[in-house]
Amino acid sequence: MERTLSIVKPDGVEKGVLGEVIKRFESNGLRVIAMKMVCMSKEQAKGFYYVHRERPFYESLTDFMSSGPAVVMVLEGENAISKNRELMGATDYREAAEGTIRKDFATDIERNIVHGSDGPDTAAFEISYFFNELEICG
Ligand code: ADP
Ligand code: MG
Repeated sequence: MERTLSIVKPDGVEKGVLGEVIKRFESNGLRVIAMKMVCMSKEQAKGFYYVHRERPFYESLTDFMSSGPAVVMVLEGENAISKNRELMGATDYREAAEGTIRKDFATDIERNIVHGSDGPDTAAFEISYFFNELEICG
């Protein structure tokens, strides 16, 4: 069993695809073991995406992530990290495989509906960024 952090980003909440995204997780062996809606400040978004601080899109990305409500979740399942990445699709929706969340709902490389941890270390950091142990029902 593995855990990963998922975020339905502000564009996903705005577009009303929250339920559809969760449905895809649940029907593909990923169980939601923690969940809440958050309104990140610019500073909180910058802390979350600190790894990207040198990238040209850092300012714009953190403006976007702090622009409205997002839903953060801990998903648990077998190979949860790669399974979630597979369901999400490529970062750029134009390159995402058919049937993936980003292919189906994203219309912009930055506003791409979902976030998912990319490895065990980032999953541990990202889960602890939003949740304490009491909030995780694993
Ligand atoms: P992923 O979310 O697929 O793991 P990255 O970690 O590379 O992708 O990037 C983090 C987020 O930054 C992306 O999900 C997207 O919102 C944004 N992003 C990535 N690349 C670009 C880009 N070239 N232009 C604008 N935004 C980008
Ligand atoms: Mg990433």
